[in-house]
Amino acid sequence: MNEFGTPHEVWALAADGETVLLRPPGPEDRDGVLAMHHTMSPESLYLRFFGASQTSVRETADRVTTPDRAGCGALIALTHDGGEVVGVVEYNGDPDSGEAELALAVADAWHGRGIGTLLIEHVVTMARADKVHTLVADTLPWNRPMLRVLEDMGLPVRNRLVAGVMNCVIPLDGDIPSTERYLTALARREALADVASLVPLFAPRSVAVAGAGRRADSVGRALLRNLKAAHFTGTLAVLHPTATEVDGVPAFPTPDLLPEVPDLVVVAVPADRVPDLVEDCGRAGVRALVVITSGATPEQAARVHDSVRRHGMRMVGPNCLGIAQTDPATALNATFGWVVPAAGSAGVAVQSGGVGIALTEQLNRLGIGVSTFASLGDKYDVSGNDMLQWWQADTRTTMAILHLESFGNPRKFSRIARAVGRTKPVLTVDAGRSAAGRRAAGSHTAAAVTPTVARGALFRQAGVTAVQTLGDLVAVAALLHSQPLPDGASVAVIGNAGGAGVLAADACVDAGLAVPRFGPDVEAELGALLPAGAACANPVDTTATVDGETLRRCVDRVLAAGHVDAVVLALAPTALGDPLGDILEGPAVRARPVLVIAPERAAAVDLLPAVGGTVPVYGDARTAAVALAHAYERAMWSTRPRGTVPALNDVDRGAARSLAAEFLLREPDGGWLPPRECARMLGTYGIRVSPWRQAFDAEEAVAMARELAPSGVDGVVVLKAYGPHIVHKSDVGGVRLRLVGDDAVRAAFTDLAHRIGALMESVVVQPMAAPGVELIAGVTQDEVLGPLVVFGLGGVTTDVLADHGTRLTPLTDLDAHSLLADSRGAPLLYGHRGAPATDTAGVEDILHRLSRLADDVPQLVEADLNPLVARPDGVTVVDARIRLAPRHGRDPYLRRLR
Ligand code: ADP
Ligand code: MG
Repeated sequence: MNEFGTPHEVWALAADGETVLLRPPGPEDRDGVLAMHHTMSPESLYLRFFGASQTSVRETADRVTTPDRAGCGALIALTHDGGEVVGVVEYNGDPDSGEAELALAVADAWHGRGIGTLLIEHVVTMARADKVHTLVADTLPWNRPMLRVLEDMGLPVRNRLVAGVMNCVIPLDGDIPSTERYLTALARREALADVASLVPLFAPRSVAVAGAGRRADSVGRALLRNLKAAHFTGTLAVLHPTATEVDGVPAFPTPDLLPEVPDLVVVAVPADRVPDLVEDCGRAGVRALVVITSGATPEQAARVHDSVRRHGMRMVGPNCLGIAQTDPATALNATFGWVVPAAGSAGVAVQSGGVGIALTEQLNRLGIGVSTFASLGDKYDVSGNDMLQWWQADTRTTMAILHLESFGNPRKFSRIARAVGRTKPVLTVDAGRSAAGRRAAGSHTAAAVTPTVARGALFRQAGVTAVQTLGDLVAVAALLHSQPLPDGASVAVIGNAGGAGVLAADACVDAGLAVPRFGPDVEAELGALLPAGAACANPVDTTATVDGETLRRCVDRVLAAGHVDAVVLALAPTALGDPLGDILEGPAVRARPVLVIAPERAAAVDLLPAVGGTVPVYGDARTAAVALAHAYERAMWSTRPRGTVPALNDVDRGAARSLAAEFLLREPDGGWLPPRECARMLGTYGIRVSPWRQAFDAEEAVAMARELAPSGVDGVVVLKAYGPHIVHKSDVGGVRLRLVGDDAVRAAFTDLAHRIGALMESVVVQPMAAPGVELIAGVTQDEVLGPLVVFGLGGVTTDVLADHGTRLTPLTDLDAHSLLADSRGAPLLYGHRGAPATDTAGVEDILHRLSRLADDVPQLVEADLNPLVARPDGVTVVDARIRLAPRHGRDPYLRRLR
């Protein structure tokens, strides 16, 4: 079995952003492998073979191109058109020993471009599937590049010098290739390669427009006008079958006839002409495409996708508004919208062009502007994840804004977002889009994640600022752009008209902020500052008779006292004039954020210039409070310790994946695992379920019960109806507890068979578990953020209580602990009123194992341990189910293009 399934090829990015093709070699590749070795210098050959023998080269070519040798495997890297072999990696071992020798060769011209690393990453996954637990690479000690590659993999390589040869031992057993260190190293390499591959899109040296015809009102002509108006710094051309010039720009019939091969071609030709054009671009050596055209048929779409990959291009679209790069070094506006993105600091990616225009307009108006803009459309290739990686590396971008229906591979999104969020805010709109999807899911666990509250918590965990509307997005962006983050949730509200201050205070509390009293000292000081009749507790009512200068002194006094983390000023014009003007004459930025609410003055939000910066002014209290609450959340997230993902020793990823593959071969549409396979799957990750037996008739049930009774509490057993279509057994009266003696078991079987009828295929007999706290632990999927671990009070009352915490995988030690400690069941778990504490470490261990299982087996879409019974002496899982769905079984973290 190999990891590549069908098709046997994957495309991936080398470190410099070049697309390469990876696949296991076949006999037809023999010449290519030989040819690569013939281009290698004597020195390179010596390092590979410890001698420059042509026999070794021939043997290698024969060996790696012979398929299906047990315990052995090979992969080759080819140029993206498949024309030239540029790297070969192989492992050769004895299928029984689990140890294999690793060897790598990369064409000289491709050294230093990350090909070796990429090949080893993929071969590691392949070897593990082949039950190899140790790879050994024999390397000459002065082969620095090879040692460096192995070192930088993020795998715990052990080097030992044996007879002048460096023996590099790479353990693959346990969960090593799932460790955070390895995955982090992998993610860093992916980000670098990804950014390099996007350079021709966002920093092209030459651009050609296809589809800018003679009609001045066409989309292509609008694009050309925008490109010209933005003063693109590179070379501009038009692709046109007959014209020699369009709107003053030189035109050429085909990409290969251009004097200079363009880095980027913007495609706005009719849908039926797109596939041929894309292929022509690829052949000519074009590096990137923006496809504006919509309405491709599936066949056209497939051809475009194929050309893009085969020629190693990157592509935005189709069906999009275009892209823009405001860096003056490039000055690219390849959009056909009428709003021109102003140079600025927000990275913007949208799916719909309309939203893109609205957002750009707002960011321009606020003076935030745009660094990079991309309307991603149907996202054949470039996704929100790519954009996040670009912005992470781009120093001009200070915040990332994504308004997308989906972001890209969810597992990667939640990892990338967390990494980007460390350095710059990631903002998005989450309008509870998945309600319908969530309704469709079946078990308790899936139902448990329904509320939008949980969704919000997940975005928070990922460090993503997710708001409800586009308006709120702009409101938060304005605050993050202009003010520091608050250190806490305490807000001082200062108003010059009683009612407005009270409204603002209420809005703050509604948004989850606090409006605490200042304490007597500060209140006395404010009393001295303000006229009689002013209210000096929080919210402060200065009365309408104070001027802006006094208000400003109030702000500084309140901030100096240090009791609050932010100030919200609710201002109304008074007989004395508009105090906002005076406020704006003061400093814009202090150590803590200051926001203004001024319904008479502001649109939903404005950034008004003040001394040394800008002050956010909101048209209503709710918007201001929501913005501040999000800033507070971001501050909390940034400073919260991250914890570590514990290493788990006894997990068998290969076995879990084989189990999944076998089941899906039998049930191609997926479904719930039968009890035996479910227990085995959990067993591969060290989760033990209560002992159980399956019985098909009453006498068998009696025999099984006799066998199991001694391990049950007081010799008591349990009978449960099993059938592939019974999801919740209690709902159909399918659970009989506390059965003592043969007669009781016999009677219970007959009763179940009678009541449930044909739905029941067999019964499951279990010892009765000793009583304890009934909990639920499970896994479900979020379509945006990937796998989640769910935890809460369990048992048959689960749906009613809906007491569930959720966390993104991978679960850190702090995540697992907070799931328990913050749950409603915490008093029961940690012991209260004299009751002893339960085995909370055992519960946390199960959560970690579920997290790892969910991450390692993408076909596992749902798992539901309900209940697990926690007692002081341990944890018993008495009911478990796992649902699998067909997904390609490839390693979800391996670097490859879609
Ligand atoms: P379902 O969730 O499909 O209704 P369960 O197997 O979870 O079926 O059983 C329902 C309830 O019966 C559990 O929540 C638990 O309270 C109790 N129960 C089930 N099996 C056992 C057992 N082996 N020992 C003790 N109680 C059990
Ligand atoms: Mg149950």
